[in-house]
Parts: sequence; structure tokens; C-alpha cells
Amino acid sequence: MASSSESEASCRARSALLDSILDFGPGVARGGAQGYIPRPTMTETETLPILLVPDKRLRLKARPLGAADGDAIRALAPKMLATMYAAPGIGLAAPQIGEGLRLIVLDIQPKEKPEPLVLVNPEIIAESAERATREEGCLSLPGQYADVTRPARVKVRYLDLTGAKREIEGDGLLSACLQHEIDHLDGVLFVDHLSTLKRNMILRKLAKDLKSQQRE
Ligand SMILES: [Zn+2]
Repeated sequence: MASSSESEASCRARSALLDSILDFGPGVARGGAQGYIPRPTMTETETLPILLVPDKRLRLKARPLGAADGDAIRALAPKMLATMYAAPGIGLAAPQIGEGLRLIVLDIQPKEKPEPLVLVNPEIIAESAERATREEGCLSLPGQYADVTRPARVKVRYLDLTGAKREIEGDGLLSACLQHEIDHLDGVLFVDHLSTLKRNMILRKLAKDLKSQQRE
């Protein structure tokens, strides 16, 4: 998900897996008493090109990760986080960097203290009947934003980098971001939640924007 001007974090993502995410290996300084890696270190990690609509790989269903994928996940997650922070964005799903894997990263408050989350095989196990509308953007549709209505609160089950089962519950920006990124794992984009008219307007504008950027 693209950064929005909002810095709301009504339900903060908290997890003990932060430490494992930030264990980037030897030679990487760990910052602060809580082991948060300072942002400059994060951005020194290799970033990956982000696929843009209409790349067909964004429309594929990603496969669940298994025990044999541990090394691949630990290698990919830091690069995905670095790519997300560099964009800048607040969420990124593996299909957006061309990996058809059920893996997402997010940090809904990257401008303050980094609180990166890595979710392996995330699935929504509960959602509120109440719905909420927020403006969303997407790193795969740069510069495009629209109001999207989704369940106001969700509970998500996932595996952390150690393979332990965890749950996270959120509302507000966190809820929207979780749903947006999990959608990517099923080839769904935020524009799919809009009317056909609105979706086509955005897709046409994106194509036009990208074309004019190529000419520059
Ligand atoms: Zn997105």
C-alpha cells in the first residue's frame, strides 16, 4: 500500500517477531535499546523493482509457504521491507516484486519509529460487520488513490519468521492495510473494490501517467 498523508495508528501493530525480522545477519548494526534497526541501515538492503499494473503477475494467486521455504522467506523479507520503505510505502506483498508467495510486509508508521511486520501465509479469520471507508493507494498503481470500503476491523492469523502461529487484530489504517496486502496474494487490487466506472477511470489515468513518464 502506498503511504498516505495520514499518520493514524489507532491500533498499533505489536509483535515479538520484530526482533527476528530485524535480525538481518552479521555486519548489520542493531539500533536502539529495543533492537530497532535505524532506517538508513534498512535502506542499504537491496531493493527490488515493483511490478506495475497491468503486469499479469499481479493477478495470479500466490502459493502458501511451507517449512522448506524458511531460508527463502528470511532472504526475501528484509529486501521487501527495504523496497517498501524506499518507495515509500506502508505495505508490500510478494507478488508485487514478482514472487508468487503468500508473504506480506507492512509498517503503518514508517516515519516514526519503524515497526516492521512480516506475515507469512496471512489469512483473515474474522471481520467486523461494520465497514469503514478510507483512501487507499498502491505501489503497483503509483499516484492513484481512491476511497475503498472494507470491513472496519479484521483479525488475521499468520506465521512469523520462526514459523510460529500468531494473530493480529486491527482497525483503522492497520485493518485496511492488512486487507489490501492480503488481497494482493489472491491477485486482487484495491481498484477491484470500486465501481467499474471508477476502476476504468483510474486504470486509464495510470496508463496515461506511466506513458508520459516514459516520454520524460
Ligand atoms: Zn497494493
